[in-house]
Amino acid sequence: MAFAQIIVKLAAHQTDSVYTYRIPDGMRVPVGSMVRVPFGKGNRMLDGFVLGITQTVDGSIGRIKDIEEVSGREPVFTGRELVMAQWMSRRYDAPLSSCLALFVPRDPDKTVQIRVCARQLREPVPKDRIGTVQKSFLNVLAEHPDWSLSLLMKASGAARSSVRSLENKGIIECFEESDQTPAPLVIQRVTDPGKELNAEQKQAADRIIRAFHEGRSSKFLLYGITGSGKTEVYMNCMEQVLTAGKGAYLLVPEISLTPQLVERLARRFGDQIAVLHSRLNDTERSREWERIRRGAAKVVVGPRSALFAPMPDPGLIILDEEHESSYKSEITPRYHAREVAEEMAARGGFPLVLGSATPSCESYYQALEGQAELLRLSRRAVQDAVLPAIRLIDMRKEIASGNMTGFSGELIAAVKDRLAKNEQSILFLNRRGYSSFVSCRKCGFVLRCPACFLPYTYHKEQNLLICHHCGRAVQPVDTCPSCGSRYLRMSGMGTERIVEDLAGLFPEARIMRMDASTTSGKNGFQEAYEQIRDHQADIIVGTQMIAKGMDMPLVTLVGVISADMSLYYPDFHSTERTFQLLTQVAGRAGRGDRPGEVLIQTYEPNHYVLQSVAAHDDAEFYRQELASRETLVCPPFAHFLQILLTGREEDKVRQAAGELAGILQRESSGTDAVAVLGPAPAELGRIDNVFRWKLLLRHPEEEPLIRLGGRCLEMFRERYRDITAAADLNPVNMY
Ligand code: ADP
Ligand code: ZN
Ligand code: ZN
Repeated sequence: MAFAQIIVKLAAHQTDSVYTYRIPDGMRVPVGSMVRVPFGKGNRMLDGFVLGITQTVDGSIGRIKDIEEVSGREPVFTGRELVMAQWMSRRYDAPLSSCLALFVPRDPDKTVQIRVCARQLREPVPKDRIGTVQKSFLNVLAEHPDWSLSLLMKASGAARSSVRSLENKGIIECFEESDQTPAPLVIQRVTDPGKELNAEQKQAADRIIRAFHEGRSSKFLLYGITGSGKTEVYMNCMEQVLTAGKGAYLLVPEISLTPQLVERLARRFGDQIAVLHSRLNDTERSREWERIRRGAAKVVVGPRSALFAPMPDPGLIILDEEHESSYKSEITPRYHAREVAEEMAARGGFPLVLGSATPSCESYYQALEGQAELLRLSRRAVQDAVLPAIRLIDMRKEIASGNMTGFSGELIAAVKDRLAKNEQSILFLNRRGYSSFVSCRKCGFVLRCPACFLPYTYHKEQNLLICHHCGRAVQPVDTCPSCGSRYLRMSGMGTERIVEDLAGLFPEARIMRMDASTTSGKNGFQEAYEQIRDHQADIIVGTQMIAKGMDMPLVTLVGVISADMSLYYPDFHSTERTFQLLTQVAGRAGRGDRPGEVLIQTYEPNHYVLQSVAAHDDAEFYRQELASRETLVCPPFAHFLQILLTGREEDKVRQAAGELAGILQRESSGTDAVAVLGPAPAELGRIDNVFRWKLLLRHPEEEPLIRLGGRCLEMFRERYRDITAAADLNPVNMY
């Protein structure tokens, strides 16, 4: 008799447990299988993962239940993947089943497309005594030997029992045909041999490949401005890794924003690439995973989740735009792809490359400290492109001179100039919608979402007030709900409002808006980009999505409407994000043969972020930012563990937060004590009627935080079943 240790995911619980089940005779259940098992008094069927097999169990076997069925034919994870999942489960305080689920395609039955087929072994003779349906089955089979069994049965009207009796008589044989050679999604020849690397690129690639050949899990920071040829370095390294018979992962922040990159990779690697974007359906995803598992696709391109694609023999992981916050998962397990990639590289003994034009302070600091090898690309690969001139515009002076429009005289003149020269301008504002809030001029009442208590944003096109946190949308009102006055005012500006104002200023211009609302369709982003490239718009108003890596050769002016908006967000990342965003937006100007100009409007022209952006002085930004982080005791000089408590009853959440703080303080005494900050209501204290409180733990090292958090949360969760407590190691959003 054999037994399986099975981890079962219980939806209502925040943790999961291992249970023992009996393996029914004749059922093949290898470790790594996904199974259905009866659970609890009602024998509800739940999914589970098989972690181990034993021949005996402790105690009575009388109450041990049988596994109901195995999903799919192959195990869904390997031993190596189980170890990674266990590492993630501990580090990110997440149920093991939620970590394993990352390695499992959504529908394991589809991983290998199995077809049952039939073939005739001999002609029937009179003593076989076969019926008419069986004859009809044999006729259909003779005509269509390639049909699947189910199709043959449908066409002939034969039931499974008739087929089985044909089998028993030895007239036919049924066999499983697994779809071993699924058609690849892109069938392509390699058409681009790649560029010959310049000296800096070659040195970077050489060092990475040396580490690869030496089996070193070194971490590299490839730091070079947009257009300096990082992607060429990635492709060169990947090619050498492939030549050595191994595979490579190339992670990108958001695959739908990188159609050009995918095109380039396809030209270079042909059908050896597997592209895992979030819009694949289950079948498409399973097919790509199967190609990867079989070693047919050796280059995996995708967002953070692509790391979990089952590459048999990886030799390199690259994270492009490593500073992007989309590498951090905001749902359980709250992992950071950079950290998981580092662990995979360390276990596999191969290099990890982090690429960026504006590295995260954490990675930059590691390079300074020698924990990562710095590879610098100092100039644009194509020689004639020059850096744009960046100027700060002091909006305080505009206000003082009576200009309340939000557009400085200089910016308006610059746009007018581009229109006259038939060139394009980008105006950047990181806020969608028309106004940022609607308030009453008489009593000051602000229209808020009742579920989140945050101001509504007015969207003029849809004529709706929309809550950007929970998505609730309501009709606008004419009168103040509080005092009845008719004087409602829209304050603050969103992209819709900018477009409207510009249309008034430049009636002859073709103005286009590009934000999450206008590019939501399947190819929305690509289409918008093509419109810009084909010069169907003169002025493009957009949010941060226009900052992404697109070549727009006709854009010679970039205007930033308000640089201050993101600078004072209550999160220590806000300065770094503003620096990265402004640097990226500025990089949109003048990538063609015409020089670019960048105008940044601000009320704070002396801020070090703006000063260093304007001076193209990245080193100065990092120096000031790291000094400030050290003073504030923030990463990379300390680590945070944020614990977010959520529940539907405000009092209960507050009380639970207080109690958890008590447990944490009690358990963390002594010299290695962890600092416990809070509890306090989260910055967004209420989202969609769920109340949110948070606690922040801080320590110079990660390990004490992981240990303490894990131990205390276990105690806490036993006591508070209706409060969700989620731990977030070094959160990218501190609210
Ligand atoms: P990044 O990824 O740093 O933004 P890319 O690799 O996309 O830079 O390179 C920018 C442009 O320069 C691309 O058009 C690319 O083809 C070109 N390029 C890169 N390296 C070279 C090289 N060694 N020789 C010629 N052109 C190059
Ligand atoms: Zn009012
Ligand atoms: Zn809301």
